[in-house]
Amino acid sequence: ILIVLAATAGMIAYLFSKLVASAHNLAGRAAEARFLADHDALTGLPNRRQLESIYQRHFAHSGHEASTLAIACVDLDRFKDINDTLGHQAGDALICAVAGRLRSILAAGDTLARLGGDEFAILRPTRSSIAESELGNVIDACFAEPFDVTGHKIETGASMGIDIASSKTPFSEAIRRADIALYDAKANGRGRATMFSPEMAKRVEKRHAIETDLKRAIANRELSLAYQPIVEAATGAITSVEALLRWNSGTHGQVSPDIFINVAEEAGLMAELGRFVIGQAVEDAKRWPGIATAINISPAQLRSATILADLLGPAKRAGISPQMITIEITESVLMSNDERTMRVLRELKRHGFTLALDDFGTGYSSLAYLRDFPFDKLKIDRSFVKGLSVTDRALAVVEGVVNFGRILGREIVAEGIETEQEMQAMQQAGCTHLQGFLFSRPLPAEHIEALAATFGRPETLTRPAAAETTEAAVMPMRKRRR
Ligand code: C2E
Ligand code: CA
Ligand code: CA
Repeated sequence: ILIVLAATAGMIAYLFSKLVASAHNLAGRAAEARFLADHDALTGLPNRRQLESIYQRHFAHSGHEASTLAIACVDLDRFKDINDTLGHQAGDALICAVAGRLRSILAAGDTLARLGGDEFAILRPTRSSIAESELGNVIDACFAEPFDVTGHKIETGASMGIDIASSKTPFSEAIRRADIALYDAKANGRGRATMFSPEMAKRVEKRHAIETDLKRAIANRELSLAYQPIVEAATGAITSVEALLRWNSGTHGQVSPDIFINVAEEAGLMAELGRFVIGQAVEDAKRWPGIATAINISPAQLRSATILADLLGPAKRAGISPQMITIEITESVLMSNDERTMRVLRELKRHGFTLALDDFGTGYSSLAYLRDFPFDKLKIDRSFVKGLSVTDRALAVVEGVVNFGRILGREIVAEGIETEQEMQAMQQAGCTHLQGFLFSRPLPAEHIEALAATFGRPETLTRPAAAETTEAAVMPMRKRRR
């Protein structure tokens, strides 16, 4: 009997403990469900819904009408590139690392939330006059050091759009305005914090209009190419021309490629636009034999699986040797030392194309990447050239780049030369090639053809007869200088 009693008691105790545990479990799961409804599963940060209730509560409790709240949308720059090249796991790890660092930087009264993807939001009770600089500092502090992600050191930045909300601003409107400001920050070069203004909303509308019209422009062939000569520094002779897209739109007038190329990339139109550029450029190249033609290839194009065929096919059909085609790739594609990009570049090189690293000095490339990538030319970005003269101490920076390029056996092109002074400075720094308005604006193909006829006698180069184009005429080509 004793044994039976003990066994029964044991059983009861066991069942009871099970019951308690499952009750705990249930309560735990309910709490978990509640947490998940309000938080982001990856980072554990409040989600959009929770952010909205914190926003509402702030104004409900703050009492007086004049109280303001800064709401900032933060978006990582070029996150898609990282995700595409290193994989989603690395992407997720980076998101978590950024969340952690932001959390450690923010002040006690701030709220940090994840809105989804690579977008975060910050609420900070603050005055409008200081919000931009305060929150801008948060970005600077967060992204100053690289992130350690699955064995990679990732340098990344973020852009921020800020709106100042009052008790009268609906949450959705505050987010919308911060988003518009974010868009503006990205469009103006990323890595910055920008405060919303009503003009921005107008610009965003315009951008939408451009996107719609660009689709039509491609179909209607409203696009054309202009060509800007690149001259040899020692002789002034034209050695190549750079193809630059032009869009003369019926509704928007001349639209800058800096604007519409971005729009095309985001709207997925770049592949089509790129094929037009390549086809037209190799066709035109036939008109100036002996002069190479440079074509800009955007990061999105470079990622495309068909890029090699897209270049080789038209070149072959036009009978232009790849040796006479320079492919310009902006420095930022080297951001992640990515195997695929490397492979594509090596393939292009193997087929005989000349490769130029564009906008050099603006991106992230380390000396090691530069050494390993198969580039033939470096194009020093305009920002290094602007305003420089022979006596300028900043010229040492360019000289350093030139020497480095020399050691690697690369040609060095200085872009954006507008004045005699800049030309002399770049010559002194040892740049092998020069490009800029001082020599010539980008010109229609027929003008290049006329210029090419005088190729070899650069001293005699003067304004071509028919210069009434939208782009200004050619400046007299510089004489040889020592
Ligand atoms: P980029 O590749 O750096 O091209 C050089 C830009 O500098 C051109 O602007 C050119 O007109 C301008 N430029 C040349 N010399 C001077 C100068 O002395 N002073 C100043 N201030 N500017 C000078 P553009 O034609 O407006 O093109 C802007 C950017 O748009 C290009 O920068 C390039 O990144 C992109 N782009 C243009 N055409 C194409 C294209 O066919 N495909 C791709 N993917 N991108 C293109
Ligand atoms: Ca270029
Ligand atoms: Ca450039």
